[in-house]
Amino acid sequence: MVIAFFKRLFGGGPAGAAGAPAAAAPATSSGPRLRTYKGSELGIHREQISQAAIRTCEILQRAGFKAYVVGGGVRDSLLGLTPKDFDVATDATPEQVQASFRRARIIGRRFKIVHVMFGRETIETSTFRALQNDAETDEHGRVLRDNVFGTQQEDALRRDFTVNALYYDPIADQVQDWLGGVADLKARTLRMIGDPATRYREDPVRMLRTVRFAAKLDFHVDPATLAPIAELAELLENVPSARLFDEMLKLLESGHALACVRRLRAEGLHHGVLPLLDVIVEQPDGERFIEVALANTDARVRAGKSVSPGFLFATLLWQLVSVRWRARQAAGEHSIPALMEAMDSVLDEQASKLAIQRRYIADMRDIWGLQPRLEKGGRGAARALEHLRFRAGYDFLLLRVEAGELPEELGRWWTDFVDGDSATREQLLDARPGDARPAAATKRRRRRRSGARKGAGEGDAAGDAGGEGVGGEDGGTVGREPDDDPRWREIPGQGGGSPRDRDPPA
Ligand code: ATP
Ligand code: MG
Repeated sequence: MVIAFFKRLFGGGPAGAAGAPAAAAPATSSGPRLRTYKGSELGIHREQISQAAIRTCEILQRAGFKAYVVGGGVRDSLLGLTPKDFDVATDATPEQVQASFRRARIIGRRFKIVHVMFGRETIETSTFRALQNDAETDEHGRVLRDNVFGTQQEDALRRDFTVNALYYDPIADQVQDWLGGVADLKARTLRMIGDPATRYREDPVRMLRTVRFAAKLDFHVDPATLAPIAELAELLENVPSARLFDEMLKLLESGHALACVRRLRAEGLHHGVLPLLDVIVEQPDGERFIEVALANTDARVRAGKSVSPGFLFATLLWQLVSVRWRARQAAGEHSIPALMEAMDSVLDEQASKLAIQRRYIADMRDIWGLQPRLEKGGRGAARALEHLRFRAGYDFLLLRVEAGELPEELGRWWTDFVDGDSATREQLLDARPGDARPAAATKRRRRRRSGARKGAGEGDAAGDAGGEGVGGEDGGTVGREPDDDPRWREIPGQGGGSPRDRDPPA
């Protein structure tokens, strides 16, 4: 199998097709052949790489170790994209790495990695490791432990995609490629390293990564990489839910969430990839809303703004809530209790399946719970401005307007109200939001009133309901001014909450 694998990789496929390597080490029976390229010739330049990552490599190399920038930082730089972060791989042990820097700490218990800190930047530095042949797995082949150090070559082989297994030495200006990643990058092909089905079994999360990278990079997925997913998707059920949640957030916060979801639809992965994806992908009625919400999320991420998971999940599950809310009202229930019941039933069903953390659920309830008040507009509704999560509720209402679920006048009324000074607000309070009012009476005002609540006045939408990981549980914050609440501050977007997972095991 190993031989077949190398044949496939090097036997005249796209790996050999693009760009002659500057140098090639002789093939050995023990592993793939190394190709080296001059970085600048491939279009990667030191200036694109974070100073902190370069310093980390320099210091480790000066201490006699190998050290390279790896993963997304190299891949994205080669593609002319702005990398999210830079990781370093080295043959130094975590302890040796830590000893080489003034500010560095070892994190992780089973597999240690080192966070090397320069100013506000942290470079995740990991020691080369190998995939074990006899790794401990569950009954489906999922690797439970992956904590054996290895050579650089082994480190390349245990990575997920060929384009994620490029090593860049910023000091020597050299890209090292063991697996044909440069050729795949040029051909814009996402190719799993090794036998795709086996690699998905080892770590089913890789299936989500396939979808995410294909959408983010707009790459063609190698047919052999794509093929096993439909059959193996259900293995995602065995992945610890916290890890799934993290990876799901990465997908949704990739800046390409809409493209990811469309790809899932196009590839027929509607079912079973993840319960949440089923919810998103299988909503005929809610399609417009989800598309608007995801497009809005993508725009925020691309503008470098934070995205609050609570807000995001509130949008993703809204259609379910909304259908049940309407059904209950149609059956004669009052609006508010009907909404509460609808929220409870959806959250009971979905929250544990999706492993949505409690603090996000509190945000979701607040955002949904504000909707009937906001829909009413008028004097009573203006008190909603006092609500801790008014801003998120208002942003959510605007999404509903954009999706055609509510009249545009209502959205305009709120925007005018939020942006208005006290005289404008008084005037607006006398007008019912559903009324078609002459445009002059509601002239939009962009100036923020000095007395207006900041949380209500900032033109920065969707997402400040719960800057992740900051505010803790919802308790304790009730009645606080939005600006006092750390969750209302802009937090540079990073998904997750837990440290970014490296490879398989949780
Ligand atoms: P981005 O950070 O832009 O999402 P990335 O490729 O850097 O993309 P990370 O999750 O930061 O992705 O992981 C860094 C590198 O670690 C990857 O490029 C890949 O080489 C390796 N890696 C991460 N997760 C896995 C996995 N599940 N299986 C194998 N290798 C992985
Ligand atoms: Mg990364």
